[in-house]
Amino acid sequence: MKVKSPLEVYNFLPRTNCKECGYDTCMSFASHILDRSAKVFDCKPLVRDAEKDAKAKEKLEKLIELTSPEIAEVVVGVGSSALKIGGEEVLHRHELTYFNPTAFFYDIWDSLDDKKIDERCDRVVSYKKFYVGKYLTLDGFAVRCTSNDPKRFAEVVKKVAGYGKPMTLIALNPECMKAALEVVADQRPLIYAATEGNWKEFLKLALDYKVPVVLRAKDLNLLKSLAVTFKSAGVKDLVLDPVTEPIGEGLQGTFERVIQLRRKAILDGDKDVAYPIMVTPIAAWMIEGDEVTKSYWETVIASMFIVKYADAMIFHSIDQHVVMPTLTLRFNIYTDPRTPVQVAPGLREINNPTPEDPVFITTNFALTYYTVENDLNSAKIRGWLLVLNTEGIGVEASVAGGKFTASKVKELINETKVGEKVKHRYLVIPGLAARLQGAIEDETGWKVLVGPIDSGRIKGWMEKNWPPKK
Ligand code: SF4
Repeated sequence: MKVKSPLEVYNFLPRTNCKECGYDTCMSFASHILDRSAKVFDCKPLVRDAEKDAKAKEKLEKLIELTSPEIAEVVVGVGSSALKIGGEEVLHRHELTYFNPTAFFYDIWDSLDDKKIDERCDRVVSYKKFYVGKYLTLDGFAVRCTSNDPKRFAEVVKKVAGYGKPMTLIALNPECMKAALEVVADQRPLIYAATEGNWKEFLKLALDYKVPVVLRAKDLNLLKSLAVTFKSAGVKDLVLDPVTEPIGEGLQGTFERVIQLRRKAILDGDKDVAYPIMVTPIAAWMIEGDEVTKSYWETVIASMFIVKYADAMIFHSIDQHVVMPTLTLRFNIYTDPRTPVQVAPGLREINNPTPEDPVFITTNFALTYYTVENDLNSAKIRGWLLVLNTEGIGVEASVAGGKFTASKVKELINETKVGEKVKHRYLVIPGLAARLQGAIEDETGWKVLVGPIDSGRIKGWMEKNWPPKK
């Protein structure tokens, strides 16, 4: 995106404040364009003018160019489960934010029997992990043609499509790919992959079925030339695969190619390579060794490229020791650094507390809050949990930075009227806030008990300290 302020966008708009876009003013619409919650095409008067007048059309095209992300955004799938890949603006997350999390596709191959295919699909579809207030799930399937039989591949692709997740179709044989597209092109799968050997056939498939396509080449000049050829033929939804090699110098070379591609696109403004990048941790399964070694390397490769700069990935393992760390890492890399992950402050009731139960306090940093809540729940402790607004900052940093103070604790006690819900005046503060014990007692008149540093130890702490000795 080359425009940086709403005013720059505003200057391209009709400036009539007609509200057709759903916003009260053109300036408000302009700021939503910048934060990507609105699209240029939502301004209907602008689009209507462009249909009638060549100058207005030029203006619209210029605005689209100025507001398009640096890396093209490609949509895979349809409806509510569709995935956006790419669409990034910056090289480093702290410069702005990353927008579209790396899409994870899990492989299904057509020489598996139908029962095993269903089992694998069920595992992908049902995987769910609660983390920092959200459910982390798996994105889609990578259906591989290992049979080299167009009929079988089409059958399996159709079956997997029934699970309603976005798909990457993997077949180097254009006949197999064509057979699959005949049955699922309307699901907008990503087709993998056009290479030096088959690009003409894949170009035709991408044009005929209007689907996004992965271009694959280890030589970055060749990769770029494939991208230029596809784009000039009218295929704009491209993903680049610079070939993942799993260990040693091969892995180092992969890393360098991925970095070069993204730097060329963002730092040098080379639009011919400004496309999402595909990395394939599944390549780890080519390494000699047992399954544990392969899945270990699959996790290592995925982790490297979640951080830098993969927009889509193909995995083999759906074991917890691969899925959980990669999903968690992706979640953390793709949170917006401009807004700390936080929960609403206030008072929470844990396990139907009574007036005799303890009052705890924690911060509204989501990771801290959900950890404390989870630890209290799993220890089956009843209690009242005060959540202090520290602007999404954890306990230690918020105490040091003046966001967790005695006066704010007093305000929270007053606002939530927790004193009317309990018959005692004891407040349990986190161990990391111990230095505020005296100040909170002076400010609130409550007796302060210093809880454990780690809320995972709350059960043992309660056994020794609650009810408090008079
Ligand atoms: Fe302004 Fe266009 Fe929105 Fe109307 S539709 S308020 S002209 S941005």
